[in-house]
Amino acid sequence: MSETVVDGVQRLPENGISVIIIGAGVSGLQVALESWRKGCDVVIIEKAPELSPVGDFFTITPSALTTLKCYPSMHSDYHERIYNCSTHVYTPSGVQIHSKFPEWRQPGVVTAAPDVDISFLKRRPVFAKMQLDQVTRLGIPIYWNESVIAVHEHENSVNVVTASGQEFTGDVCIGANGISSKISGFDAGPDVAVQDSGYAIARVAFPRSSIKSDSLASTLLKTIDSEPEFRVYVGKDIHLILFLTPDWVAFAFTHADSDNAKETWTNLKRPSDLIPYLEKAADEWDPAVLDFVRSAPPEIVDWKLRWRDGAEQWTSDSGRLIRLGDAAHAFFPTAGNGAVQGLEDAVSLAECLRIAGKEFITKATKVHNKLRFERVSILQQTGFINREELHTADTAAVTGNREKANIGFFKIGRWVWNHNPEHYARDNYDQCLAHLETGAPFHNTNLPPGHVYQPWSLSSETERMRAGIKSTLKENGDWSA
Ligand SMILES: Cc1cc2nc3c(=O)[nH]c(=O)nc-3n(C[C@H](O)[C@H](O)[C@H](O)COP(=O)(O)OP(=O)(O)OC[C@H]3O[C@@H](n4cnc5c(N)ncnc54)[C@H](O)[C@@H]3O)c2cc1C
Repeated sequence: MSETVVDGVQRLPENGISVIIIGAGVSGLQVALESWRKGCDVVIIEKAPELSPVGDFFTITPSALTTLKCYPSMHSDYHERIYNCSTHVYTPSGVQIHSKFPEWRQPGVVTAAPDVDISFLKRRPVFAKMQLDQVTRLGIPIYWNESVIAVHEHENSVNVVTASGQEFTGDVCIGANGISSKISGFDAGPDVAVQDSGYAIARVAFPRSSIKSDSLASTLLKTIDSEPEFRVYVGKDIHLILFLTPDWVAFAFTHADSDNAKETWTNLKRPSDLIPYLEKAADEWDPAVLDFVRSAPPEIVDWKLRWRDGAEQWTSDSGRLIRLGDAAHAFFPTAGNGAVQGLEDAVSLAECLRIAGKEFITKATKVHNKLRFERVSILQQTGFINREELHTADTAAVTGNREKANIGFFKIGRWVWNHNPEHYARDNYDQCLAHLETGAPFHNTNLPPGHVYQPWSLSSETERMRAGIKSTLKENGDWSA
């Protein structure tokens, strides 16, 4: 068998591995692309009837885009809409207290994806459509409207059954089915309960044209044609993010979820519902910001932020089932890494499958898991720390001392964005496998240099915050840019 080229994508010779992917979210679509590129036979099963148009912006940083160059059409689609945002922190009354470009845009910095113009923000539906278009052009089959209800793992194969009675057989099954979907027989690691984090996020994206040109809100948009902006307004136990780009704008309002309800959605359904919450958190709001919120359409999604503690094991005991993306690790939006880590997972797992080959698939999933867990766990924890810092910022103090306003939300660290998950898997596979099989020494190096990993959980973080103890996570190892 030789390499083939489809839509400009170079595919390695077929390796005989058949991969079944549950879920066509950002992680599921990416692992389909990467596995196909490595020569696997791939099928995706998705319970929704089509790609969801829901969602506003998410952050995609260089480590998630290291293989974009392997897909020339998708590479060009990606570059069609670039929002090279500057990032800012504001007091509610509208005083700018911090302002900079992301770390990877600082002069002289070369990233792990040097061929990609990293835009910081991407509109979620646009990114997912870009991936789906590539999946379609490569001819990877997707079964829409098929909810997977059961998975059976056998010694040499996996069987996947959908609600309509369709059955699929493969060598490995990747559960990229999001945070809270449960599937009978998908026993990959401990069954960790999904918990209420106590916070929710009300968010909506809308066309810039919804903001009238003579309105107060329009004063926020004066310079965004030349420089889109990511603004965070910090209040008492809330933060409000404004995404300001030349064509689409959005807000995301993170707030304590007072009703403690069990449902996915909470109560903020209309822009007018948000105003009293905002006013509770600060005496004085910039009238332009309140006008911006009022200009939004009524279709606000107020997601409960649910949490599931990280489990070290993402695979079944025998290794033919593996969780990926949100299904393996929950992320708060304040970590800015949910989609990034799902995309890194996809690249890493496909490379491990390639290295192992069909005969050793069950080793590949376990090596991938070992290579990824600590990195992902540290980044999950930043979601707590970044939120805490935003919700307790002493704006009066930092207004007089801008140095103090270097809010850690924007302190990401080179170790995060300068990582190449494909190279990392390739370079570390053998040593990691030896470690798993014989106990030979192996230490992950995709962490902050010098970092000593410390296990943690929702309850340990909650206890720490209740006791008023500042986290030292970002002092553990080298987090510099
Ligand atoms: C509709 C939507 C909107 C979002 N909007 C934002 C946003 O605005 N900003 C942001 O930062 N993040 C957003 N996210 C979250 C972000 O996209 C994810 O955290 C991240 O990209 C990880 O994606 P994932 O593919 O691992 O999981 P998900 O994006 O949750 O995808 C999981 C997929 O699996 C499917 N699935 C679940 N169970 C089954 C089953 N039994 N059988 C078959 N299919 C199944 C689901 O329908 C879904 O398509 C959104 C997610 C979704 C689903």
